[in-house]
Amino acid sequence: RNRNDDKSVLVIGLGRFGSSLALELVNRGWDVLGVDTSPRLVQTYADALTHTVIADATDEEALRQIGASNFNRAVVAIGTHLEESILATSQLVDLGVSTIWAKATSRRHGRILEQVGAHHVVLPEHDMGERVAHLLSGQMLDYVELEEGFSLGKTKAPKELLGKSLRETGVRQEYGITVVSVKRMGAEFTYATQETVLNKGDVIVVAGRTDDVERFSEIV
Ligand code: ADP
Repeated sequence: RNRNDDKSVLVIGLGRFGSSLALELVNRGWDVLGVDTSPRLVQTYADALTHTVIADATDEEALRQIGASNFNRAVVAIGTHLEESILATSQLVDLGVSTIWAKATSRRHGRILEQVGAHHVVLPEHDMGERVAHLLSGQMLDYVELEEGFSLGKTKAPKELLGKSLRETGVRQEYGITVVSVKRMGAEFTYATQETVLNKGDVIVVAGRTDDVERFSEIV
């Protein structure tokens, strides 16, 4: 059986993060088993999710009963209850769930989840805070740090690059960034090549070291 054919996931915790994630996966055609200790939340999402169960994910027996070990993928979307989050993650690791995503509320929390055996740790509040700081303090229209020190930024085409091909501007050597995509006014994004000529009003996506992307977005 192709691993990609298995579109089922166990979502522990139906708070803001867990419920958004679960609903989006259902939208994308996935089978989602949503678990929460709160009867109210389970009731709220009973119709929208494939399956919902009231259960305590720190309880080994409860996890067995809901068939948690049959899942290849699980998400621990318990944020604020540190101990519950760590115990639930550890239970899923013990059950042999092969891909576990876990939400952390701080870097320390995230580190513990990794040590316990989570395969992917996300820090939504932390990451979004940093991202908004970049957007607020700079000129970028959108920004995502793909990993520590490497980013994609969306920005207006700077004046000094207009009317010449990207090759002629030597933007890669000059600023250390690569122009990945261009969006003409009123059109959609397409990929950029060395021959692409930027025009006034173009919006571009650039990739590079975070410092370089930031510096590039400041030029006018
Ligand atoms: P968010 O910030 O995304 O709303 P919360 O940490 O507030 O996240 O919500 C996490 C959810 O996880 C809550 O609905 C809570 O009832 C649920 N939860 C907490 N502990 C457990 C547990 N041991 N088993 C299952 N669900 C849990």
